[in-house]
Amino acid sequence: MLYPWQQTSWQSLVAQIDRLPHALLLTGEGGIGKLAFARHLAQALLCEAPDMAAKPCGVCDACRWYLAGNHPDFRELAPASEEEGEEGDSKAKKKPSQYITIDQVRELNDFVNLSAHRAGRRVTLVQPAETLNAAAANALLKTLEEPPAGAVFILVSHQWRRLLPTIRSRCRKLPLPVPSREDALAWLQAQGLDAAAEHLAEAGGAPLLALERADPDALAAKQRFLQELADPRRLDPLALAEQLDRQKVEVARVTDWLARWVYDIARLGLCQSVRYHPTEHDRLAPLAEQVEPIRLMRYHDTVLAAKKLAYHPLNARLVYEQLLFGYQQAVRRPAKR
Ligand SMILES: [Zn+2]
Repeated sequence: MLYPWQQTSWQSLVAQIDRLPHALLLTGEGGIGKLAFARHLAQALLCEAPDMAAKPCGVCDACRWYLAGNHPDFRELAPASEEEGEEGDSKAKKKPSQYITIDQVRELNDFVNLSAHRAGRRVTLVQPAETLNAAAANALLKTLEEPPAGAVFILVSHQWRRLLPTIRSRCRKLPLPVPSREDALAWLQAQGLDAAAEHLAEAGGAPLLALERADPDALAAKQRFLQELADPRRLDPLALAEQLDRQKVEVARVTDWLARWVYDIARLGLCQSVRYHPTEHDRLAPLAEQVEPIRLMRYHDTVLAAKKLAYHPLNARLVYEQLLFGYQQAVRRPAKR
């Protein structure tokens, strides 16, 4: 399935579908539907009766296997999930991995080097590609450099600059766009989302992210967090860090909340408008009045740096503590008088 805003990208890809390189790298913001696009492409490449527009038919053997998740010529590589952990008898407390590992790539290479079951292509989807750890990336590189006939690789990444340059250079990059605001709003409203404009703004224009974050529990967690930020003098960094850690809110998400909140404080102070929190104006305004812009912007950089590290194994609680103490410093009223 494609999203409405992906039609143009799809058509330009289809125009060259018989001349596609063996490796494609789909890039773009998180939450715009890159994975759905990649899966649609995978199915189209495997379908044995696509229509003129290369749309997969949905009913041939290949499509049915694909949709059932067991096409023998398709593999999807992602950080090992919890389910896989449960497959081992130990019903283990295996944590879901943050990385695609070298063992996964080795298995993949075995798959790629077999001949196709269905005389057609062998398609591999790697997502998100930036989660390949160094050893895995190097193992994959070997296959990308000398791909067996018929092998097609689709890599999906919203942080493609983090990929090995040698991997990037083996792929044709296909950037996917953030939808126009109108398209995104129309789609969100069709999903039955209330206050779609607000959610969309908060997600930086990425509709799928907006919908995901509109999950009631996620929304409540964020509201509580912003409430604490709104009152920095009463904020207890240790208690809040512990709470976030206990609720297993991801570092990537908390740093997003924090970066956007701080950005809006700065923006309100400088140009009397907010970008991400249109309904929080009254809570942002007193902060905007009292901060020193330079100190705030430095802190904003710190938050962004923490966000970049968010996929690395780390002590989340410690990160929260440091960020929250930093926040108190960054927004405190400068000592005058
Ligand atoms: Zn088909």
